[in-house]
Amino acid sequence: MSSVAAAVKDLTPMFAGRLLQPADALYNDARLIHNGMIDKRPALIAQCRGTADISDAIKLAKSLGLEIAVRGGGHNVGGRATVEGGLMIDLSLMRGVHVDPAHKIAWADGGTLWKDFNRETQQFGLATTGGVVSSTGVAGLTLGGGFGWLMPKYGMALDNLRAVKLVLADGSVVRATKDDHPDLFWAVRGGGGNFGVAASFEFTLHDVGPMVVGGLVAHPIDRAKDVLKFFRDHTQTLSDDVFMVAALITAPDGNKAVGLAAVHSGSVADGEKALKPVKGFGSPVLDVMGPMPYSAANMMLDESFPKGGRCYWKSNFLAALSDAAIDTLVDQFMRNPSPLCGIVVENFHGAATRVPVDATAYALRDQGFNVLINSQWLDKADDAKGTTWCKTAHQSLQPFVGARRYMNYYSDDDMTDAGLSSAYGPNLPRLRQIKRKYDPDNVFHHNVNITPA
Ligand SMILES: Cc1cc2nc3c(=O)[nH]c(=O)nc-3n(C[C@H](O)[C@H](O)[C@H](O)COP(=O)(O)OP(=O)(O)OC[C@H]3O[C@@H](n4cnc5c(N)ncnc54)[C@H](O)[C@@H]3O)c2cc1C
Repeated sequence: MSSVAAAVKDLTPMFAGRLLQPADALYNDARLIHNGMIDKRPALIAQCRGTADISDAIKLAKSLGLEIAVRGGGHNVGGRATVEGGLMIDLSLMRGVHVDPAHKIAWADGGTLWKDFNRETQQFGLATTGGVVSSTGVAGLTLGGGFGWLMPKYGMALDNLRAVKLVLADGSVVRATKDDHPDLFWAVRGGGGNFGVAASFEFTLHDVGPMVVGGLVAHPIDRAKDVLKFFRDHTQTLSDDVFMVAALITAPDGNKAVGLAAVHSGSVADGEKALKPVKGFGSPVLDVMGPMPYSAANMMLDESFPKGGRCYWKSNFLAALSDAAIDTLVDQFMRNPSPLCGIVVENFHGAATRVPVDATAYALRDQGFNVLINSQWLDKADDAKGTTWCKTAHQSLQPFVGARRYMNYYSDDDMTDAGLSSAYGPNLPRLRQIKRKYDPDNVFHHNVNITPA
């Protein structure tokens, strides 16, 4: 019997979840994540059901000398939620959400998806900032930042964190808050999975919905430059209630198009007034912007990102969207090799951008435009075409970009020293000190890795 098999046999009587080895029937599904390009085979997948399982999985990996990767929602395109030949701590069985409506607090387990979170909190007309796509994990998104429809009004997901229950590298469990382990609490709000495995999160909630005004308008691609200029100018006037995204996409009918998606987080009456100029601009070929449940708004883009699609992403942050940058984006989009490819421009403003850079480890607090070159295709034979288009488009954008980049959008090859500086900026030295205190042996390194000082 191999050492892994023997260790599994010993742990199984205590372990509440599942310990999956390559020969097990559930192993193959469990090893796959959102990005179909990632094809790693861990020696063991520990599907945990609680904090004690996580702690035992960490100790098991260390005793066997296996590298550890941590899977929350499994959405990260860089693919560091899994590991070749190591131990994957898989939290997909831990998706419980508990809401205290009187105090406007929610607790979410480490494998919760945003759709789970919204479903429970919206029972009480409450929400907090989550991702724009509902199948993304709460854990990875929050630990690395977390922007979404509520960001201008309520900040990033991590700005709404009250506490995190973390299992540390030695298997011990701590609760980090602004008063308990404040250094650790600062570091996990932006430092990703570097400091421990988050078994659960405690969030502040806000009154949102259930009905809000949101949706999508789309214009033909020959209007793309005008629509992007409108987007640039109109976003300068937005109140904190509105989050807005522009996207160059291919519509289901095969025609290329430019879309504007927005959600207003206040009352329906205010939302209709605020989004009137967006609906009124030009002659849209599609207008599905209007009153809708907040949880539906959070799912409206889900189908554009099919699970198992092969993904390669590059992104940069632009303080301004010049005419030349717009020309470049449209020109590059027209060359894309697959109808699933797109270029997404996310407007950052409001509460999240008013937080000082050193208040949390998360360093991208600027106002401006986060540009994602989202290369996506289905057939393995198209891998070279898909990655080459993305790299070329990204390269052509370089004259317009700023120093910071959004870490949660990194592909595997962005996790370099330069990538680390772009992600953590001036907070990197302090993060390295805290890493030395809590994970001196760098047990948690399958992430945008901060090496200990
Ligand atoms: C379709 C799509 C849409 C997206 N939309 C948004 C968006 O609107 N806003 C936004 O901000 N980002 C968005 N992202 C990016 C997203 O924030 C990252 O991919 C994020 O890492 C996803 O979290 P996850 O838990 O699903 O990922 P995973 O792949 O499971 O984890 C990513 C990394 O996070 C760490 N991690 C995960 N869970 C834990 C845990 N419980 N404890 C400790 N560390 C953990 C690990 O280091 C892991 O490698 C999107 C991504 C995709 C694919």
